[in-house]
Amino acid sequence: MTLVSYAESDLLPISGLQHLAFCERRWALVQIESIWADNRFTAEGNALHERAHSGEIESRPGALIRRTLLLHSLRLGLTGQADIVEFQPSAAGIRLAGHRGLWTAFPIEYKRSRDKAASKAFHVQLCAQALCLEEMLGGSVLTGAIYDGTARRRQSVEFTPELRARTEALAARMHLLFGLRSTPPPVFTKACKSCSLVEDCHPQALSRQSSVAEYLKSALNTR
Ligand code: SF4
Repeated sequence: MTLVSYAESDLLPISGLQHLAFCERRWALVQIESIWADNRFTAEGNALHERAHSGEIESRPGALIRRTLLLHSLRLGLTGQADIVEFQPSAAGIRLAGHRGLWTAFPIEYKRSRDKAASKAFHVQLCAQALCLEEMLGGSVLTGAIYDGTARRRQSVEFTPELRARTEALAARMHLLFGLRSTPPPVFTKACKSCSLVEDCHPQALSRQSSVAEYLKSALNTR
């Protein structure tokens, strides 16, 4: 049974989860402060998205392909769209109007990244799509894929209990942070090197400032 937790007007974008999984400040800069910047990887990813949405993708025999399928989950408070959903024949699948047999949904997201942290964040976004599909259509969505159209490579992603739990926790965290409308200070990590918002964020300079501020605060408190 689906527990309805959010009103439609309170739904937040699924795409925010990939930013939140990468860095909470990055999510806040995009979602709260409406800053966005493309770097090479995001620009290449956008080009791949356009290709997916323009229909230039091969279909595989035996699969039904739906492009830009709108998604939502009232349970998790999410809305968005899937680049591609393949419906594959499966004895444990669901019925689809106008098509004979049983089918299992297999979401595919077009992404471009050689960065490990970003790849893990994409898995969260894809898993959120799977959770939406399960809520909307019924049935189980066990696997999906990240498709790198430049390398023409499909990376399979299994929606394990751990990934599902992380995705649900991040969805709840995103709603909490959105309610606070506050942008956290930067923490400079190696992920910053591949972050497209590094010029807007100034992680090294601001991290130093906040370290000095924290030091002065703790020093004053100990006197
Ligand atoms: S530059 Fe670093 S701290 Fe700033 S948003 Fe990106 S990942 Fe987060």
